Amino acid sequence: MTSRAQKTTRDLRWHNRSDVLTRLYLRECTNRNDLARASGLSAATISNVVSDLIADGLVGENGSQSSAGGRPRSLLRVRPDFGHVVGVDIGETEIRVGLFDWTLQPVADDEVRAVATAQIPPHEVADQILSEIAAVTARAGITPDGLLGVGIGVPGAGGSVIHAPTLGWSAVPLAGLLRAGLGFAPDVDNGAMALGQAENWHGAARGAERAVTLLLGIGAGGALSMTAGPAGRARSFTMEWGHTVVDLDGPTCRCGARGCLETYIGAEAILARYAGTPGSAPFDGDGVEAHLAELVARAVKHREPAAGAVLDETARYLGIGISNLINLVAPDRVILSGWAGALLCDALLPAVRLVVRQHALPYLQEFTRIEPGELGPSATALGAATLPVARLLADGGRRGDE
Ligand SMILES: [Zn+2]
Repeated sequence: MTSRAQKTTRDLRWHNRSDVLTRLYLRECTNRNDLARASGLSAATISNVVSDLIADGLVGENGSQSSAGGRPRSLLRVRPDFGHVVGVDIGETEIRVGLFDWTLQPVADDEVRAVATAQIPPHEVADQILSEIAAVTARAGITPDGLLGVGIGVPGAGGSVIHAPTLGWSAVPLAGLLRAGLGFAPDVDNGAMALGQAENWHGAARGAERAVTLLLGIGAGGALSMTAGPAGRARSFTMEWGHTVVDLDGPTCRCGARGCLETYIGAEAILARYAGTPGSAPFDGDGVEAHLAELVARAVKHREPAAGAVLDETARYLGIGISNLINLVAPDRVILSGWAGALLCDALLPAVRLVVRQHALPYLQEFTRIEPGELGPSATALGAATLPVARLLADGGRRGDE
């Protein structure tokens, strides 16, 4: 029988492991001395914890750095070869599945499948996800049961049951539907929240105290990442920014309300506005993503007036939406991310910054930088992959079966 004292000692050991591993993973510390200083743990404890992490294959010694007047310090890094994670981005029109090592470097090209997720039953969406996971892992020569975890980003609220109005999902047990096929339960959460976590760990929000990451796609979501306390680490929260109202008598939104920001800056809304603008022309290819890319090319490369006018108007609404955010939460950074963000950013950013200068309160906006995301078109799948990694870090690198 395990005594309470033994249990407490074991908990403390895993707590210390989690703390040290997280600092190394987020590159806050790179050697034992820094770890001891940052964590407040003794040099002997740090030495033991690091030895355990090295023995378990989570951390490696990687060269050394000189220190002022002392012995060279060996550099510690997490080992990418410890294992793989999968990130799944469930959108309204497609499912994107990415395979990454656990430091979130891509291992294979994403599997992208057009799936009308709102039109088919959830168990069929789950089957499609399982077959894409099987495909992406097979191409890399690994099997799904060898993964450290699978993260799923959904529109709406995540957890053991999913509420996603844009998919028509109410209390859908997605993790349960996937569990049998995977052999373990995936981590499911809001896609924008996961994206915010990824931009915070590895992208454009890194080092910000209060960052807002905007997920621009068919809809418009957001995440607020805030650092709490002097040594705090950022935590991310979902914001339904796309459903803040910018026009009392505006078009009806998917949520049922009128004049939501999303009805002006969502990818389909932008394309619909273009189609209704005199001088516009139909698109050749298929798919919202290809059409939006073509719209940007018509405006920027070919200087087509109709396309230019639609992008100008989009920049005004985006700028107003960001100004409202700045006045509400005073972020030091706003990141334009998601696949539509990646397509639109270069063309819109100068005009968006101008609108913000005109509309956000001067004493708040002077601290705010508006920047493009750094994670590319797979940003949301990569964000979803942070979900199992966050759990692994919190557990001190313990796999589910330990
Ligand atoms: Zn709405």
